[in-house]
Amino acid sequence: MKQFIQLKKVGFMSGLLQKIAFCLLCLCSFLKLNAQDFSAISAEMKDIYHQLHQYPEIGHEEFRTSELIRKTLERIGYTSDSGTCSAMILETGELGKKLPTLVIAVLDTQRPGPVICFRADIDALKLQENTQLPFASQCPGRMHACGHDAHTSILLATAKVLKEKQDELCGKVVFLFQPAEEVAGGADDIVNDGILDRLRVNAVFALHVAHAIPVGTVQLLSGPILSGSNSFTIRLIGRSSHPAFPEQGNDIILAGAEIALELAKLPARQISIVQCPTIISITSFQAGTGTSIMPGEAVLRGTIRSFFSIDDPSYNIQGLVEKHIQARAAPFGLTWEIQWKKGTPPTINHPHLYQKLVPRIQQACSLLQIQPGKKSMASEDFAYYAQKYPCLYFSLGIAKDGLGEQPLHSSQFVIHERALDMGLQLWITITEIILNTQNPFGQLD
Ligand SMILES: [Zn+2]
Ligand SMILES: [Zn+2]
Repeated sequence: MKQFIQLKKVGFMSGLLQKIAFCLLCLCSFLKLNAQDFSAISAEMKDIYHQLHQYPEIGHEEFRTSELIRKTLERIGYTSDSGTCSAMILETGELGKKLPTLVIAVLDTQRPGPVICFRADIDALKLQENTQLPFASQCPGRMHACGHDAHTSILLATAKVLKEKQDELCGKVVFLFQPAEEVAGGADDIVNDGILDRLRVNAVFALHVAHAIPVGTVQLLSGPILSGSNSFTIRLIGRSSHPAFPEQGNDIILAGAEIALELAKLPARQISIVQCPTIISITSFQAGTGTSIMPGEAVLRGTIRSFFSIDDPSYNIQGLVEKHIQARAAPFGLTWEIQWKKGTPPTINHPHLYQKLVPRIQQACSLLQIQPGKKSMASEDFAYYAQKYPCLYFSLGIAKDGLGEQPLHSSQFVIHERALDMGLQLWITITEIILNTQNPFGQLD
């Protein structure tokens, strides 16, 4: 309820104050949106955000979301006729089968210049919303608790602004509405398909809303910013026994507990946490059926978060983990096996692109405060784009007036909607810097 009251109070601040703020925002823009234009686009963006927030859909099931995106793009002038300068690409091949909810739109200014891509993820989470927002989720057990509804509405508003101002730009802009960020598939399917190569994309940008960072602040780092995420499954096999006579079996639960402890301790003892930040977490331990049998089998699952690849021989993390399992399993007389699953790689911001672009964003838009970000052990499938293309990943502040303080994936996650204006401003500013006909940015890579 507290959040609802605060939201209403924010609503009262609209009117004059907001108009002044819109005028200030316009000072940021080379494209010179007047206050009225910006006010109308901002209102439409917030309306789309509310609609998306009310109907969250999980990865690979974003059909309603995808339809809303396509209809909005159509309304603002993007057609499904690929011969036009503002087209929607409806993938019907293998990529379309894997990702039927994917929407890509391309604005072709018909003038030579770089091709830049903005990516918004569109999926939500399996979570029951607990926010009291007037536009809270209408879908039980589903919630946009990672802000992908904000990313999507910002990108739709960007597509609208740039469509209206295309005569002042050169090159092309690709608007990529990506499904399934929170689950397997998504970015890796798109990158492996090669569609961005066919579109000749030179650089890819994404933003993610970030709690507890003030609205107007944008954070990023040059180089590694988010860790990679990999998983493993360990199967322990031994003899079961009567719990009164543990010496007759292999006490697989005690062995599994020791293995879990050893693996959690491994970073910082075998790997430098300063040079190579690493976390090993056991996330599941399954064994036994009750109190009268000591089981003969156990399964432990876990994740490794690091900024290096788990099969990089110079770190040999797989070898270290397996050595520790063997050292704990052998005294108990257990046999064991491990399955490794490589997941999302680390997300790395392109140093050269960062160096060329970031100071100019700050110069061009004094309302956005660009600050150094913090490395995080969280992971993001944007990393797949960054493996192949020069990329930058921005954290967008969402905290203001008591809103935007709850962490991502919390059932009480709420953004301050002023953050949407700032996200739109960031994407417009980047486009203006790179695709400005008066001052082309030049080579991106
Ligand atoms: Zn998330
Ligand atoms: Zn997210």
